[in-house]
Amino acid sequence: MALFFFNNLLGSIISGLLSSAKSSSLFLSSCFSSSTELPFNADIPIISSNEIIFSGRISSDVKQFTVMAAKNLKSNSLFGWNCLDECRYNCMWRTVKGFEQRGYDIPKFHGKWPFERFFGMQEPGSTLASFLNLAAHVRMHMVYMKKFPLDDVDNMVLFWHLFAVVCMNAWAWSTLFHMRDCPFTEFMDYACALSMVMIMYIAAVIRVFKKRRTLTTSIVVLSALVFAQHLVYLYTARVDYHYNMMLNLFFGVSGSAIWLCWGVAQWVSGRRYAWRVVAFVLVSAAALSLELLDFPPYFYVWDAHALWHLATVPLPFLFYRFVIDDLQYTRRGEDTKPDFKTA
Ligand SMILES: [Zn+2]
Repeated sequence: MALFFFNNLLGSIISGLLSSAKSSSLFLSSCFSSSTELPFNADIPIISSNEIIFSGRISSDVKQFTVMAAKNLKSNSLFGWNCLDECRYNCMWRTVKGFEQRGYDIPKFHGKWPFERFFGMQEPGSTLASFLNLAAHVRMHMVYMKKFPLDDVDNMVLFWHLFAVVCMNAWAWSTLFHMRDCPFTEFMDYACALSMVMIMYIAAVIRVFKKRRTLTTSIVVLSALVFAQHLVYLYTARVDYHYNMMLNLFFGVSGSAIWLCWGVAQWVSGRRYAWRVVAFVLVSAAALSLELLDFPPYFYVWDAHALWHLATVPLPFLFYRFVIDDLQYTRRGEDTKPDFKTA
C-alpha cells in the first residue's frame, strides 16, 4: 500500500515536471540535436509521460533522477530554469556518464559542451571570465576618467569614453549570456560582441588615418550601416553562426592589422609607448587561438571559450595605458610627424 502511494506521489511529481513539455517523448531524445546518434546500445530509458503515469514501472534511477530535478528546479528558478530545462540538464549528465563509462569522447549537447552549473549559472567559467573582463574595463575607464574627464572638449578623448562604454556593455551582456543562455541574452551577446570588435576597428581607423577626414568618415558611416544591418539579421533571421564569426573575424583582423602596422612604425620612429598596442594585438591573437581550438571543458567548467575570455582579462590594462600615453603624447604637441604615411 505504502509503495502504491509512493509510486503515485512520484507519478504526480513526474507529471508536474512533464506538464510544461511540448512532447511526451522527452529526456534522452531532447538531449541531442536530431542529427546526433548514440554510439552505443543505450541502456538509458527513453520515457514517455504516459508510461510513467500509468504503468507505474519506475526504475530507481528514474526516481532519483526526477527527485533531483524537482530539487534543482526550486534552487535554480532564479535563473529561469523550467521543468524541461531541468529534465534536459539531468538527462545530459546521465548521458555524459554513459559516454565516460564507455570511454567515448564527450559530445556537445545542442551545440554546447556539458557544464557543471554553479548556483544556477549555466557556464560558471565563462561567466566569471566575462565578469573579470567587465571589471578590468571599469577599472581602466576610471583611471582614464581621472586623466581625461568627460567635460574635455577633445573629440578623441570623448571617443575613448564611448569606446569604454561599448566594451563595458558588451562584457556585461557576455556575463549575462553565459550565466543563462536564452534567445534574448544570446542576441545581446552576439550583437554587443560585434559592437566591441567594430569599435576597436573604428578606433584604429580614426587614430591612424585621423588626418584624412573624408576617408575616416566614410569608413565609420559604412561600418555603422553594416552593424545596423547585422543587428536586424541577428534579430530576425535564423543565425548562421559561421557567417557571424566570419564577420567578426573580418573586422577583428582588419582592426588588428592596422594597429599592428601603425604600432610597429611608431615604435621604430621613437614613440616607445606604442609597444603596448603591439603587445595588445599579439596577445589578442594568441588568446583567440584558444577559442578556435574549441576543446571540451576541464572539470566541466573551463572549455576553450571560457579560457579565451580569461586570457583577455589583462588586455584592457595594456590598451587603456596605450590610449592614455598616446593622448598625452599628442597633447604635448609632439604629434607632428606623419602618421603611418597618411598625412
Ligand atoms: Zn562568450
